[in-house]
Amino acid sequence: MKNIVLLGATGSIGDSCLNVIRQNKKHFHLFGIGLGGNLDKAQQITQEFNPKHIFVAQPHVDKSHDLLQSYPNILSTEDELQALIQDPSVDIVISAISGFAGLKASYFAIDAGKTILIANKESIVAAGDILMPLAQAKNSEIIPVDSEHNAIHQCFPPHSDLKEISKIMITASGGPFREKTFKELSEVTLQDALKHPTWSMGTKITIDSATLVNKCLELIEAHYLFQIPESQIEVVVHPQSIIHSMVTYIDGSTIAQMSNPNMEVPIANALGLDHRLPIHFEAINFSELNLSFEPIADGREIIFEMAREVCNKRGNLGVIFNASNEIAVDAFTTQKIDFVDIYKVIQRTFDHFACSNVSTLEDIFEYDKQARIQAEKVIKSLH
Ligand code: NAD
Ligand code: MG
Repeated sequence: MKNIVLLGATGSIGDSCLNVIRQNKKHFHLFGIGLGGNLDKAQQITQEFNPKHIFVAQPHVDKSHDLLQSYPNILSTEDELQALIQDPSVDIVISAISGFAGLKASYFAIDAGKTILIANKESIVAAGDILMPLAQAKNSEIIPVDSEHNAIHQCFPPHSDLKEISKIMITASGGPFREKTFKELSEVTLQDALKHPTWSMGTKITIDSATLVNKCLELIEAHYLFQIPESQIEVVVHPQSIIHSMVTYIDGSTIAQMSNPNMEVPIANALGLDHRLPIHFEAINFSELNLSFEPIADGREIIFEMAREVCNKRGNLGVIFNASNEIAVDAFTTQKIDFVDIYKVIQRTFDHFACSNVSTLEDIFEYDKQARIQAEKVIKSLH
């Protein structure tokens, strides 16, 4: 029986994780959960899974809520979150908080030498230079949950010889605007951007998929997780989202991982560690399958150039890229800027900073703060 702490339990990844755990109750116990402020949903989870500990980032949203009555010792401070993650009885930490807000949890888990299932790609993008060496020093195993990275993980098992890899191919659905020219993007609305063709996900990652910034974050995530130069990582648009990524070896073999688009598949793989866990899934109907591939749509290459620069220069560039995007997405979802302005905010913020090394988590938080201030200035300058 493995004890799990699921952070981001009330989100989209949280839901999928609970579905996998529900189907494999013999093997897993939900020891603790963490969430932002959705107390109703947290209460449903506690009724079914009875976790010992609950971390709520905004516990005072509704002091009279039933959950706060039935769990009088709700955790809410960063020290309490750290103590929960570092509890010796915890075997697996799932990092599925959305955005930069998930970084501290990822850091605590890696620092404690835990096995961490990472969905929160923003942690790796912003702080890869800190987290990856820390994982090695603390013997923490990082298992990717993001479907593309989990696919690569399956096609290129840990401890394989990096020298045997010729290329990694990350697939992208292309998002809702795959067929639009860059010019046509000036007309799109928030509702259009929220309609993802193949995946159902949280708001932030859905917008990131529409801009293709999600694929940029994934390129950087792959670079850090698999220690592969960006020159060996390609991105290809694959609208059906059946092949989740591929690895080509130096002998010419390409291995692909396939499933219908459902996050429970990579989560089951990650949670299974070295074993295959049974889950209910919709099998691929191969006789009706048509797979197609195409390049990234015109006009959007510029953000990939920035992402590749992040991989090559590292340091503070990942946290700046990530922070500028978070501010831009927030401004777009609150209808302060247009869809195409997201690109302007990222690029102008990114260009404002020189590349610099980072050596501590505090450095990352400082650059995150500065980049957010700068991105807000760019937003003001747009009007
Ligand atoms: P979501 O918005 O549906 O859920 C986010 C969760 O984080 C919620 O439980 C929320 O309460 C919690 N949260 C937010 N702020 C918090 C804070 N400050 N402290 C504690 N908890 C907080 O997001 P999601 O779609 O589930 O995505 C979660 C992460 O997984 C993101 O990093 C995303 O990029 C990544 N991811 C998601 C998918 C997907 O299919 N949804 C796929 C791949 C990767
Ligand atoms: Mg993904």
